[in-house]
Amino acid sequence: MTCPICHQPTNTEFTPFCSRHCKNIDLLKWLNEDYRVPVNNPEDEEKTEIPLKIVSDT
Ligand SMILES: [Zn+2]
Repeated sequence: MTCPICHQPTNTEFTPFCSRHCKNIDLLKWLNEDYRVPVNNPEDEEKTEIPLKIVSDT
């Protein structure tokens, strides 16, 4: 079995990922895709930031 993020052998401690790092990446990706789900603090909605959002310069 390999890590879905970096495709290295998984670590049983972090299955199905190879490390905490990849686990966090996956979590952030998941949050990024699903962030339209209501958050705990609706008042903070406007300043919600998506960490993984990549802004490319044109
Ligand atoms: Zn990995």
